[in-house]
Amino acid sequence: TMEYGPSPEDSGIARDWLARHEAGFGHFIDGKFVAPAEGGRFEVLNPATSKPLAQVAQGTAKDVDAAVKAARRAQKGWAALPGSERARHLYALARHVQRRERLLSVIETMDNGKPIRESRDIDIPLVARHFYHHAGWASLVETEFPGYRPVGVCGQIIPWNFPLLMLAWKVAPALAAGNTVVLKPAEFTPLTALLFAEIAQEAGLPPGVLNIVTGDGATGALIVDHPDVDKIAFTGSTEVGRRIREATAGTGKKLSLELGGKSPFIVFDDADLDAAVEGVVDSIWFNQGQVCCAGSRLLVQESVADRMYDKLKRRMATLRVGDPLDKSTDMGPIVAQVQLDRIKHYVELGKTEGAACWQDSATLPKGGLYFPPTLFTGAEPASTIAQDEIFGPVLTASTFRTPDEAVSLANNSRYGLAASVWSETVNQALHVAARLKAGVVWINCANMFDAAVGFGGYRESGFGREGGREGLYEYLVAGWEKDAPALKPVAAAPLAAVP
Ligand code: NAD
Repeated sequence: TMEYGPSPEDSGIARDWLARHEAGFGHFIDGKFVAPAEGGRFEVLNPATSKPLAQVAQGTAKDVDAAVKAARRAQKGWAALPGSERARHLYALARHVQRRERLLSVIETMDNGKPIRESRDIDIPLVARHFYHHAGWASLVETEFPGYRPVGVCGQIIPWNFPLLMLAWKVAPALAAGNTVVLKPAEFTPLTALLFAEIAQEAGLPPGVLNIVTGDGATGALIVDHPDVDKIAFTGSTEVGRRIREATAGTGKKLSLELGGKSPFIVFDDADLDAAVEGVVDSIWFNQGQVCCAGSRLLVQESVADRMYDKLKRRMATLRVGDPLDKSTDMGPIVAQVQLDRIKHYVELGKTEGAACWQDSATLPKGGLYFPPTLFTGAEPASTIAQDEIFGPVLTASTFRTPDEAVSLANNSRYGLAASVWSETVNQALHVAARLKAGVVWINCANMFDAAVGFGGYRESGFGREGGREGLYEYLVAGWEKDAPALKPVAAAPLAAVP
């Protein structure tokens, strides 16, 4: 493993960092690590080995309240800084993330199970990119959003699939716009958030601007219910999103929800099938399929379906499932036992629903929470496996005859997060894309992200956008209020659009 994976030195640094925190992590409140007020901790496991990695604090009402108070104390001063000063802090965070990117990548992979190649080449570089991009916005927000002010104290609750990247998606725009934050990472994957807190200390972020409270859903609910939180930003399951929407209704709290998906991946008969197969690999086997915008429903034009399935099966046989620290691994373990059980449940259900199941599990490693890449063909569009988000490496395929049928099958979902269209006829692809109910549509590609592009869904995929100009509106409110922390007003005309 060492030959291909992180260098012994990188692994050593990761082991040292974990060893330094052997006594257990605290919360990060007001610029300091503090022991949990009521002492409770829980164990965080490595999904590749099922062995404990660390003891992490279970946040209670006292911890959440201390964090919200610290965020409140810091907010006016943070918002009153010139935008260029907030920008300096965000640039510093970006640079420090880059400086620690090897340690962050190894810890992310150990905690979540995602292949080290993904942590190193995708997750952590995108984290830095997000802070750089929003550093730019910090210095522009006053001129680009005249008449707006920061929301105030933001409660942010994030999932386990892209632990540090989801932190960046939440924290960078909030801070750029002059808010302060209380963030709760997911209970399965809190470690890179805690390492990020150390980075924030190192980078000299003022105390109270970013507070991190760890814990499970109960801790999340305490943040949602806290009366002095002005905005909740949530990414996770539709079920919890619905609960949060109920809990915040009528409270005046601003809310954005980024929830699940069952995104269509549409392949026309004139598509480059080999490229489409690689697109499928990126869509549903990237991060073990634990991606909210995963292309989990393959819709193939009937005349090329058999060829497409053959190519897919051949490609599936080459995917390496195994040790996520090995650089040649394509798929690591599933994040946690409950998620693995959920995937297995859906696969068994799919078989009883009459779809044909294709798996290549011969090379699955022993131990660890591994699950093979899985393809269902001939699935009924109304079947559970074609409708429910499985959040695992399971692709459900069916066929269509005409573009109209493709559109209606694609939109036959309670979700609307993303879609991918494959055709060499660009007019056809654009025409179809415009008719898809999805926040993002990729043409002849999949899972492309950028900090400058708004991301978010329709229907049960949530509302609000993250990234770019659209994303900033989620962290600003229009109008002035007496005594409210305000960004400095400007008389000048807005600057030209930011590229
Ligand atoms: P979840 O919604 O239960 O958890 C997401 C976050 O919300 C975690 O930090 C969790 O601690 C917190 N949380 C849980 N209950 C809460 C409550 N009542 N109030 C406030 N916060 C609460 O998601 P999960 O258990 O991690 O995964 C379950 C399913 O969610 C997955 O199978 C998948 O379908 C979906 N999911 C979607 C995304 C996404 O990016 N859209 C990410 C992860 C999971």
